[in-house]
Amino acid sequence: MTTTALRHLIDGSWIEGTGDRMVDVNPSRPDDIVAEGAGASAADVDRAYRAARAALDGWRRTPARGRAAVLLRAADVITTHRDEWGRELAREEGKTLVEAIGEVGHAANILRFHAQEVERASGEVFESPTPGERILVIRRPVGVVGAITPFNFPISIPAWKLAPALVWGNTVVWKPATFVPVLAMRFAQALEEAGLPNGVLNLVNGTADVGEAIVAHPDVDAVTFTGSTKVGRIIASQLASRGIPFQGELGGKNASLVLEDADLDVAVEQIAVGAFRAAGQKCTATSRVVVQDAVADEFLRRLAERARGIVVGDAVDESVEMGPVVDAGARDRVTDAIGRAHGYALPVLAPEPYRSGLLADGYFVPPSVFELPADAPGELWTEELFGPVVGVRRASTPADAVSLVNDSEYGLSAAVFTTDLSQALIAMENVRVGVLHVNSASAGADLHVPFGGTRSSAFGPKEQGAAAKEFYTETATVYLKG
Ligand code: NAD
Repeated sequence: MTTTALRHLIDGSWIEGTGDRMVDVNPSRPDDIVAEGAGASAADVDRAYRAARAALDGWRRTPARGRAAVLLRAADVITTHRDEWGRELAREEGKTLVEAIGEVGHAANILRFHAQEVERASGEVFESPTPGERILVIRRPVGVVGAITPFNFPISIPAWKLAPALVWGNTVVWKPATFVPVLAMRFAQALEEAGLPNGVLNLVNGTADVGEAIVAHPDVDAVTFTGSTKVGRIIASQLASRGIPFQGELGGKNASLVLEDADLDVAVEQIAVGAFRAAGQKCTATSRVVVQDAVADEFLRRLAERARGIVVGDAVDESVEMGPVVDAGARDRVTDAIGRAHGYALPVLAPEPYRSGLLADGYFVPPSVFELPADAPGELWTEELFGPVVGVRRASTPADAVSLVNDSEYGLSAAVFTTDLSQALIAMENVRVGVLHVNSASAGADLHVPFGGTRSSAFGPKEQGAAAKEFYTETATVYLKG
């Protein structure tokens, strides 16, 4: 297996960093080193900002169609490398090969969408009370954007931030998650190969301190972040005191609701997909289930049977249905929480941690399902664990069930399983989330529609679709008289 030399893209050059040494390992086989090299330092981040500022004027003056053309060419580069980069993604991050290849293809489609989107009408024209005048609302880029991304979608989340940022005329300093520098390098390479001018996108790899340097830099005009609520809140408060716009897509504790009239085959399959794909490491993953009493026993029996049948193994092995979690810390955190759950919850399916072979050497956690007590449901109900674990509670009526779904500080996504249209409509009105699925998994987002949560799951404007431009542009109202 090859080890990639870790590099950073600053002002159009791939450079070695001047920060601490970083080692990026394969979570399925931690003795396999995927990438290695020096991370970026605060001085590297400063150089990246200077390059982004210097490139801004030329890039924002480039006609939108010219900016879009770069994205379209980059999409073609990504498509050409889809299978190869998908394999690298599975090796580096741990989602299965099918999911990883799908993600790379999705990233190309995101670029194509935003390349088209920039040519749609984006301003407004109003009548004026003053004779001979019209009032226009126009959009302009916000300037130099700092972007900080998480590990769990190493190419598609960067794509859905950077594509709108770049196509609307901004320049960017980007730090991907520490665990996934190779896919970040691939994405930047695609844009570079597509002819993105020097300095328009600057990639600085590193740990949290590089993210801190991005946020603290005096020359940042706006920061977009996807990651945990804890880190998002820290960044939001720092930026608020300096008056700098912040967009945060944050954590979740997403529930699926199974009503007694649900098609249980659909519900079980979709909840398994939502809970266990990507080893439960999607922001929209299902980690809570509320099931109506009348079907609870049957639902739990079938969900346990489905979860027991999941083939866990090396993410690049095509026969595998679930890979590892991202690192040893994540494995231990989730395994410890499962261990504590035995003290307060009923194990429906809770295999012992893997003790030998590949699954013990890698960062694997078996799929687990617990039934939680009504009076004290515990951390499986309240904490985002980010692993393949589901906590289930029973409800007697649909109204009680909706209350339980809303019993969370988070509000990212939810799923409702019912064959009664009236119940689906009640859920639409009352479930407090930013993304609601009816009869499909809580996880999953299409690129052409707005995406994002409510309450502790988000901060600022939504991402994706036409909504993306709200963060990456600022409007000016122009009173135009001849
Ligand atoms: P994380 O919050 O640990 O890290 C996210 C990024 O922030 C990484 O690049 C990290 O290096 C950086 N960072 C960490 N501390 C920082 C600091 N103090 N200042 C600046 N940057 C800092 O999240 P993660 O573990 O990479 O990803 C998982 C989390 O992301 C989960 O909470 C998940 O729900 C969330 N997520 C949300 C969405 C969404 O759209 N709502 C999508 C994907 C992931």
